[in-house]
Amino acid sequence: MALLEVKDLTCSYPNRSRVLDRITLAIQEGPFISILGPNGAGKSTLLKILGGILRPDEGTVEIEGIRIQWNRDVSFLLSYVPQSLHIPMEMRVIDFVLLGRPHALHLSGRVRALDVEKAFYALEQVGCGRLWKENVIELSGGEQQKILIAKALAQETKVLLIDEPVTHLDLRNQIEVLTLLRTLAKEKDRRVIAVMHDVNQAREFTDYAVFLRGGKICAAGASQEVISKETVQTVFGIKVEERMGIFVSN
Ligand code: ADP
Repeated sequence: MALLEVKDLTCSYPNRSRVLDRITLAIQEGPFISILGPNGAGKSTLLKILGGILRPDEGTVEIEGIRIQWNRDVSFLLSYVPQSLHIPMEMRVIDFVLLGRPHALHLSGRVRALDVEKAFYALEQVGCGRLWKENVIELSGGEQQKILIAKALAQETKVLLIDEPVTHLDLRNQIEVLTLLRTLAKEKDRRVIAVMHDVNQAREFTDYAVFLRGGKICAAGASQEVISKETVQTVFGIKVEERMGIFVSN
């Protein structure tokens, strides 16, 4: 069974030309997949469709053999982590992470002890157990990103979709978050699909990479092979050199 199977996916926003143009993709194995490409390429749009958040004009998506449709509850299968700047409200960290627990809030308004334990365990996994009673909007960008991931982990889904997990973080937090995602993928049997910007980080941390440009797939394959000087130059339209395994622009 393929991890991800996308067929003829097309998407446009009102009054705009096509943002995704007949995308077809089959990825058998991950476990850590990056979606790369210039701004406006359609990466976030694709991720939202994979998460069932956005409805495509045409085409189909299957993840782990399950058909994703925008009006279908797939919270048992996948969790979606938006960009960290989207934390909207004032609440305690533990309450925010509890929102990730499926059916944690019963009609009676009571939360089960198990849900609290799972939420706290998720916080510990991202190294933020000590922050449980802080106010989410008072946390640093790096901490907020980790809390968003903790909420997704509390959902206990096999698949994690994550939009730009490190874009707003300093280098130390970038490495911590990417290491965490790689550990989840390699050791905890999760499947991680992340929109990323840094091709060097994608080559170092992810197993499989998909390059988008202008709503089409330019290249896809094992990260070590497909993230090459030629692909980076073609997709981003810049000249790069490879020095000691790192792409640098001239
Ligand atoms: P990327 O993640 O690669 O930067 P996006 O998927 O966010 O690209 O956006 C692709 C294109 O779709 C961009 O031109 C963007 O302006 C446009 N777009 C994204 N979201 C919306 C929206 N909600 N309404 C209208 N246009 C949008």
